[in-house]
Amino acid sequence: MTAPTKPPHHSPADTVSGPPAGEQPPAATTDPATTDPVTAGQASGTHLHSPVIDWFDDHARDLPWRRPEAGAWGVMVSEFMLQQTPVSRVLPVYEQWLARWPRPADLAAESPGEAVRAWGRLGYPRRALRLHGAAVAITERHAGDVPADHAQLLALPGIGEYTAAAVASFAYGQRHAVLDTNVRRVFARAVTGVRYPPNATTAAERKLARALLPEDEKVAARWAAASMELGALVCTARNETCHRCPIAARCAWRLAGKPEHDGPARRGQTYAGTDRQVRGKLLAVLREAHTPVAQAELDRVWHEPVQRARALDGLVSDGLVEPLAGGLYRLPLT
Ligand code: SF4
Repeated sequence: MTAPTKPPHHSPADTVSGPPAGEQPPAATTDPATTDPVTAGQASGTHLHSPVIDWFDDHARDLPWRRPEAGAWGVMVSEFMLQQTPVSRVLPVYEQWLARWPRPADLAAESPGEAVRAWGRLGYPRRALRLHGAAVAITERHAGDVPADHAQLLALPGIGEYTAAAVASFAYGQRHAVLDTNVRRVFARAVTGVRYPPNATTAAERKLARALLPEDEKVAARWAAASMELGALVCTARNETCHRCPIAARCAWRLAGKPEHDGPARRGQTYAGTDRQVRGKLLAVLREAHTPVAQAELDRVWHEPVQRARALDGLVSDGLVEPLAGGLYRLPLT
């Protein structure tokens, strides 16, 4: 990605020490319950766009799905993989995936089980099935081209509001609110003035995100990517580095003295000992095997029979594993 020359008045070090002359930050809105998101967004948006986009021009990571050659399919694949999995783990799988299936039709021609196999250890493997289902639908309904229209994207199987908006914005430069975990955290802090957003996305957050969108389509697409990158690199969940932040002088949470989180307890990310871990172990055996696997072989991966059976049943009902006669199992062929 080519980084344009950075305007000197937008260097992060400058903005931390105070707003530019004659420009005051919007008032900190520390009580989200009484804050109208549209008003807050309109008041803050224009102050935030330029510094965040300028920062992005200088600091955006050079990731393969951001290169022009990735195309809409590359963007879509990355969006499926990046939900709940960090960039470092996604990168090698993404490269292999695109090398093997450079177009939706290439993936659609394979069995869903091959998608699950190639998904490897990215976790939450139902995403592989959904991506395969989307590739089939793109091939059948859109002659193999990822649609640009938001409604058509949303109508694809396995594609929700977030992914439709992300593909339309990142691949096609359209104006959509793209509200992922990182963006929600940046908005919660910079605009609403709280440490963390709610556990699940609320209508108020969506309203705020829409109010914050720049009017110009291309600027809006850049803003979506830039605010997401700011949350990923600077305004991180536990160690926000405000001294590197281009909007520190305008950040409502920082200006309010960084009040502690007083909302509901945040969800943990436990893995060891959970059904998720057992499912992962069972699926790893099936990914390695190229012929059906006997129940006895699966039984070796986990000591506790009730939990093991529950995990296997879950994989079957999710369509990730296909049971065969004679107590054999394999990745799904159809
Ligand atoms: S100033 Fe700190 S808390 Fe506020 S948006 Fe920037 S990094 Fe996040």
